[in-house]
Amino acid sequence: MSLSSLLQRFNEPETLKMAKLGRELRAQGVDVIDLSLGEPDFDTPAHIKEAAVKAISDNWSHYTPVPGFPDLREAACTKLKRDNNLDYKPEHIVASTGAKQSLANAILALVDEGDEVIIPTPYWVTYSELVKIARGKVVEAHTTLESGFKITPAQLEAAITPKTKLFLFSSPCNPSGAVYSKEELTALAAVFEKYPGIYIISDEIYEYINFVGQHESIAQFPALKDRTVIINGLSKGFAMTGWRLGFTASTTEIAKAMEKIQGQMTSGTCSITQKAAVVALTTDLTPSKEMTAEFTRRRARVLELVKDIPGFKCYEPEGAFYIFPDISYYYGKTDGTITINNSADFSMYLLNTAHVSSVMGDAFGEPNCVRFSFANNLTNIERAWERIKTALAKLK
Ligand code: PMP
Repeated sequence: MSLSSLLQRFNEPETLKMAKLGRELRAQGVDVIDLSLGEPDFDTPAHIKEAAVKAISDNWSHYTPVPGFPDLREAACTKLKRDNNLDYKPEHIVASTGAKQSLANAILALVDEGDEVIIPTPYWVTYSELVKIARGKVVEAHTTLESGFKITPAQLEAAITPKTKLFLFSSPCNPSGAVYSKEELTALAAVFEKYPGIYIISDEIYEYINFVGQHESIAQFPALKDRTVIINGLSKGFAMTGWRLGFTASTTEIAKAMEKIQGQMTSGTCSITQKAAVVALTTDLTPSKEMTAEFTRRRARVLELVKDIPGFKCYEPEGAFYIFPDISYYYGKTDGTITINNSADFSMYLLNTAHVSSVMGDAFGEPNCVRFSFANNLTNIERAWERIKTALAKLK
């Protein structure tokens, strides 16, 4: 059998691989605590579920327009004005089967073979792989724990070449939890203003899970708005990962390009989900705020718990629901059988010894770090970190 060369160009997501290994161990009867996955452990708010039930009863069961129902695109505009003070019209919005699909649409619409795409590390696993699918060239810009895992204007400028087509980042960031402030974005915007040919994809899917206050979008700078594609969706802020709804806000030209791609790939997303999304995007955000309040409590507890772990260097996340410590202190150490040489060894050691799943930093372009989610209840978080502490104490 001869499969396409496309399959050689990219990897499957490490996050999903780790979750799969955890599930396999669990199937053997092992009590695995999952700190690997990136989804809220909450139920979808009741008023959104009711809207979906009503959509089924009302027979919203047919194909939808490829970029989404008109009322959904309007709802996305309402949200962008309400939360971000950004003016968009429905023609600027393309709804999709999740932020991941929106990222794929945007990257395929913008990136040609050989185009350089600057991605600050650490970044969400899928970014680099989608760029490779589009035959673009990934240019990693390495940030440091000391800089709060944020790219500086000087670093950005140093990474730019005549081939740079796109800058791709998330704020709040998965995996580091970094949240760019208005001042930090202003400084980056000043660099972009000097290079009018560079587009920006701003992944804002964790917008509501923010521990420092106001979310800021890079699209707020008038000189950048027309070359920014905002990515957002329902997965994280409304605990709706399985419903599959993402959306983009961009110029009409880019929106039409993405619509063309989506028209051949998926025909758009589920009609029921779209009707529920209208309600999610335009009504009460109290459930999202309550969820973030719970993440805030867990974050505080996790930061206390990791203080007890020798050798961890940890940045305090400003958003999302992960901690991403540098664990390189453990390199070269052994429990007598297994030696830890990299973050993959470290993650596997924790899975097999502590029965806690995590994701190795290699997957995010930061090989010395490991990602631990706190999208799990406090009891499991306490149990997991106790086990991690015991397992790591065996490494000498
Ligand atoms: N962007 C980031 C940074 C993410 O972490 C994720 C989900 N893990 C996505 C996009 C994809 O979200 P969706 O479920 O909407 O496809």
